[in-house]
Amino acid sequence: MANNTLIKAREGRGSRGSRGRSCKWKDMLRFSHISQCMDLDIERDYLSLCVNQPIGKKLFHLFCRSRPDLQNNISLLDALVCSDEERRDFGISIIQRFLQTQSNQLVSVVQQHEQSCMQSLELNPCIDVFHDCRESMHEYLCGEPFVQYQDSLFFDRFLQWKMLERQPITKQAFRQYRLLGKGGFGEVWACQVRATGMMYACKKLQKTHVKMRKGETMALNEKQILEGLNSRFVVNLAYAYETKHALCMVLTMMSGGDLKFHIHNVGVPGLDKDRVRFYAAEVCCGLIHLHRNSILYRRLFLFSLVPEGHIRISDLGLAVRLSEGSVVRGMVGTLGYMAPEVIGHKHYGTSVDWWGLGCLVYEMTAGQPPLRLKGEHPKPSEMERRIQKEELEYGDKFSKEVKDLCSSLLTKNPRERLGCRGSGGREVQSHLFFQSINFRMLEAGLVEPPFKPDPRLVYCTDVHDIEEFSSVKGVSLDQRDHDFYCKFHSGSIPITWQNEMIETRCFSELNIFGPDGSRSPDLDW
Ligand code: ADP
Ligand code: MG
Ligand code: MG
Repeated sequence: MANNTLIKAREGRGSRGSRGRSCKWKDMLRFSHISQCMDLDIERDYLSLCVNQPIGKKLFHLFCRSRPDLQNNISLLDALVCSDEERRDFGISIIQRFLQTQSNQLVSVVQQHEQSCMQSLELNPCIDVFHDCRESMHEYLCGEPFVQYQDSLFFDRFLQWKMLERQPITKQAFRQYRLLGKGGFGEVWACQVRATGMMYACKKLQKTHVKMRKGETMALNEKQILEGLNSRFVVNLAYAYETKHALCMVLTMMSGGDLKFHIHNVGVPGLDKDRVRFYAAEVCCGLIHLHRNSILYRRLFLFSLVPEGHIRISDLGLAVRLSEGSVVRGMVGTLGYMAPEVIGHKHYGTSVDWWGLGCLVYEMTAGQPPLRLKGEHPKPSEMERRIQKEELEYGDKFSKEVKDLCSSLLTKNPRERLGCRGSGGREVQSHLFFQSINFRMLEAGLVEPPFKPDPRLVYCTDVHDIEEFSSVKGVSLDQRDHDFYCKFHSGSIPITWQNEMIETRCFSELNIFGPDGSRSPDLDW
């Protein structure tokens, strides 16, 4: 019953409005008059406004397309997004279209790169041939064009979207479906945004539980880390709000099941080579993103699939932020996947996550975790000994490439480990095992997953088998607690919220301008 309602909601058949939206969705997403948006506090930063924020980027591109002198710049930027680095011909066609003097689509600010792009293409079409072009382009666009954009009606519209984005969020914004799981501080429920029909998972932290177990720092840590990240390979935070009894984090819905389940509970344990390669490649991109943002994950083995079959790193409760090149200490994580330097109480850095990736690839391939037999639960001291001393065994499920990848990642000395030899995650991506993966396409979301979870299944424990979350008595909440809640409930998280508007097509349906690009009088601007 609970599952059927959830499946219907996921397919957009749950409510009376279309695609899961409430029939009042347009009222919920009504623009304020532009005069009310003028005082919004917005940092006038090109990178944030025109590149990183998805709606900002769309409106900036619409502005450029409305200007004859900027149209080709945007066509070139768009063409570069889908450029498949392995196709030399594609690169050449871009050069001919935009970089050569005789072309009628010439973009003069990047013309200087024609020779060097051509040379790199001939030499090695697999590198980011157009890197310098992109840089020059942004350098140009962030000058005069950016100033003019801020005087245009496209920017006015951006402010109207920002106003909507900053509406306060309460539980009334969501419909709630079935219970998905139980965590340390509360329950996780499937939910749907009434205005857009988007499905999410809502992780509720019971205020009394958080207080009783002094979990404030941990909860805030997870929230703040998630809100600073934006990767298709890491679970995204979309909203943070509070109710009378709980702090809520609304997260990407990982309804395709967790990876452990797919490895161990479907057919013969283990996954086929293509899936191992695909998941390992996506997790690798996720780790690179975390490390670039100075975040250590520290806890490999929490990955789940989204409905389309992509994988994301989830549960960042134990992740930490590294300050300026620092290293941390502390034994955290699941013992079986801890790196030798964590067990040895040494200082450590990103090396622990590459060890974790090795464990993941090993378990996906072998169908059992490294250094212990299936169902075996060695004593912690024995497990520690094996991690520090024992060499791994690779059965006949391991091809030469995958065995080499595992043994390079599971190198006991962190200084010699793959991923730690100087160029970070890039050296993992260049391993022979990933030769057939085009990482730029993967990062642009343009690679089809090799396996699609069954949309008619709910990959999660039966509702009745999830233990009820106990309530605590005798904990009272005071002013200090409220100060902490204020740091927590920041509402919509800009990039995720804007992606939601675009993905659910609310953006394209609402972002209408007058027929000739003028302000249309009947649109209530
Ligand atoms: P905690 O950090 O307190 O352990 P988790 O983040 O692990 O909480 O969440 C508890 C459980 O809820 C998970 O084991 C999983 O079953 C479910 N869950 C958590 N996040 C999601 C999500 N984004 N999508 C689907 N289910 C989720
Ligand atoms: Mg958990
Ligand atoms: Mg957690």
